[in-house]
Amino acid sequence: MAHKNASFRDSVDRMFTHAASLMELPPGLEEKIRVCNSTYTVRFGVRLRGQIHTFTGYRSVHSEHMEPVKGGIRYSLDVSQDEVEALAALMTYKCALVEVPFGGSKGGLCIDPRAWDADELERITRRFTYELSRRNLISPSQNVPAPDMGTGEREMAWMADAFKRLHPDDINAKACVTGKPRHAGGIDGRVEATGRGVQYAAREFFRHPDMMKRAGLEGTLAGKRVIVQGLGNVGYHAAQFLSSEDRALITCVIERDGAISNPQGLNIDALRGHIQATGGVRGFSGGDYREEGLLALEDDCDIVIPAAVEGVIRADNADRIKCRLIVEAANGPVTADADEILKRKGVVIIPDMYANAGGVTVSYFEWVKNLSQISLGRLERRHEEARARMIVEELERLSADTGLNWTLSKGFKEAFLTGADELELVRSGLDDTMREAFGKMTEVLQGNSRVDDLRTAAYVVAIRRISNVYGSLGL
Ligand code: GLU
Repeated sequence: MAHKNASFRDSVDRMFTHAASLMELPPGLEEKIRVCNSTYTVRFGVRLRGQIHTFTGYRSVHSEHMEPVKGGIRYSLDVSQDEVEALAALMTYKCALVEVPFGGSKGGLCIDPRAWDADELERITRRFTYELSRRNLISPSQNVPAPDMGTGEREMAWMADAFKRLHPDDINAKACVTGKPRHAGGIDGRVEATGRGVQYAAREFFRHPDMMKRAGLEGTLAGKRVIVQGLGNVGYHAAQFLSSEDRALITCVIERDGAISNPQGLNIDALRGHIQATGGVRGFSGGDYREEGLLALEDDCDIVIPAAVEGVIRADNADRIKCRLIVEAANGPVTADADEILKRKGVVIIPDMYANAGGVTVSYFEWVKNLSQISLGRLERRHEEARARMIVEELERLSADTGLNWTLSKGFKEAFLTGADELELVRSGLDDTMREAFGKMTEVLQGNSRVDDLRTAAYVVAIRRISNVYGSLGL
């Protein structure tokens, strides 16, 4: 596993370096942007089941060119320093690409969340929050964690509450984490946000005939055969929206215990229910089961959506992949070696830093909501329009003064000012964000003959923006 994670970080660095080599950056800036600023490792004990258990946690800060820094906290036995550093770097580039004004960070706890009950996990999470808070690695203005693999609303609520108790006078305490449940200051649409963003990314692709031509795909999403790897929060929402709203056929779902296929399209809600009840896809009556899950990535289909962990498409299977389009809902699912092989085969990849940016984009909306102390629902905010206008103006002034983009996108601003329903507001803001970022990537792809894929284009857009911020910081 150490080797796998080291190569994940190496993959991210290689992809970054390739894009940076096509740009003319001031001397030394490439390295400054690429390297991770700091990584904190903590080992703490919690008395559970009659003995002290020691847990190892990390919080890595990749870039503070904008603050707060932002990124999820992962609970998994595979968590390591290399992994959180690679993930933190991707957060920096992702935020820059979709223009949310954050630097990049990521955290993790080396734990199997299924091995502990809710009370135990709560005690562990509160203790981890305390350790992070002592070093300002959770703070509304400096470092704002969020959910990731193995964590969700529940963990974020514990963290927010633990932080509040440690900082009772901080009126912004709620903004110390995003992805909270609604009653704890969360925002509607955050749970679905990453999957929703994957859907919007796929839709954008099918609005661009030049991109479709590159991949050799025609028509619309309707009827396209899609393989989804991982039916967790991200994979489930992506599969559910693509099948129910765009009429794509989810022909195969790959999970921990194997793959389940149905050429007519799987019923995603029924499959999700089966996984929740039994722990896996085996035994689901709506499809054919195979134990060798990852081999199903090589099945005949149009689109593959890896939505779980890094490094599932590698040099050893990339050549056998038959799809024409990969939408990277997970972070780092395709290694740098596989990326080259797939490019040669003409497979188009919608890169992670774009495809899964829906989560952090909606986290930004939640953070603004918490800091502005405003409630966004139509009924609740009837008297708050003047304040909404003030916030919009303040963000615009801040952008003009600093040269950084703090403005809300057009659709979001309109919905914000007219008092649209919160979920409507979030979805329209996310849609705007995804359209705009896709446009920027294709602009670079078309305007620069040395850039020949969307990932490199995404890096170029992100690096350019980060380097502009460094320029205005005076480094
Ligand atoms: N963990 C998510 C990601 O990888 C969300 C991060 C956030 O909302 O800050 O992008």
